[in-house]
Amino acid sequence: MIGTLAALAAAGAAASCRWNWWRPRVTGGMPALMYHKIGLPPSGSKLAKLWVSPTRFRRQLEYLRKNGYTAITFAEWRDAEAGRKPLPEKPVLITFDDGYRNNYELAYPVLREFGMKACIFLVYETMDHHNAWHDPAGEPWIPMLTWAQIREMQDSGLVELGSHTMKHRSLPSLPPDQVRWEVTESKKRLEDKLGREMTGFAYPYGAGAYVPAVRAAALEAGYRFDFSIKQGISTLPWNREAEAVKRLFIRGDDAMLDFHLNLTRGRARL
Ligand SMILES: [Zn+2]
Repeated sequence: MIGTLAALAAAGAAASCRWNWWRPRVTGGMPALMYHKIGLPPSGSKLAKLWVSPTRFRRQLEYLRKNGYTAITFAEWRDAEAGRKPLPEKPVLITFDDGYRNNYELAYPVLREFGMKACIFLVYETMDHHNAWHDPAGEPWIPMLTWAQIREMQDSGLVELGSHTMKHRSLPSLPPDQVRWEVTESKKRLEDKLGREMTGFAYPYGAGAYVPAVRAAALEAGYRFDFSIKQGISTLPWNREAEAVKRLFIRGDDAMLDFHLNLTRGRARL
C-alpha cells in the first residue's frame, strides 16, 4: 500500500514537471490555436514539431466539439466587438500560419466534416510556389496553396484569410519602410486578389509583436486583429492597446492532455 502511494506520488511529481495541470483554469478568454503544417514531417525536417498528423488534428477537433467550443472567424469577432452579434459561449480561433498546400489537402476536409471555421495567414509572394524563406537544409521546400484552393476555401465560408506579410522576413530586422511595405502591400494585394477586407495579421516568427514601432506599423496598416506567438489565452474583451492576441502553439508531439491543458490553462508544458 505504502509502496503504491509512493509510486503514485512519484508519478504525480513527474507529471507536475511535464504538464501544467496544477495551473488555475482560464475561463472566458479567446483561445487561438496556432497550427502550421498538417501531415507527417518529411525526413530531414528540423521543425518536426510544426507538423501535426491528420489523425491528431481530427482528434483535436473532436475534443472541441465534445467540449462545446465554437470555432469563429475574425468577421464574427468583429461583429461581437461592434455589438452586432454576441460571441458563442465558448469561442475558439483555429489559425494556420504560412498557407501550406497541406492545409487544403489534409486540414480543410476535416474542417468541412466538422463544420468548423478556421483562418489561414498567407505569405503573399509564396502562394502558388513554395516556402522559399526556409533553408531547405533544415526544412524541405513544400508546395504552398494555389490561388484556386484559397478561393475555394474562402467561398465555402469555412476559411477566412489573413496576412502573414509578403516574404516572411523577420520584421524587427528590416528598415521602417520595408516593414511598412510588408504589412501594407500584403494587405492590399490580398484584398485585390480575394475581394475581402483583411482584418487579421500574424507576425512571421512572432517577431515584432512586442516591438512598438513594428506593432504600430501593423495596426496603422489597418488590421483589426494582430497575432503573436506568445503562449497563452487573451482575455475578452481583448485589450487591443495592450498587446497582440496570444496563441496556443499546437505541437506535432502533443498528447490530448497537452491540448486540454492548453485550452483550459493557457499552457501545457513548463
Ligand atoms: Zn510563419
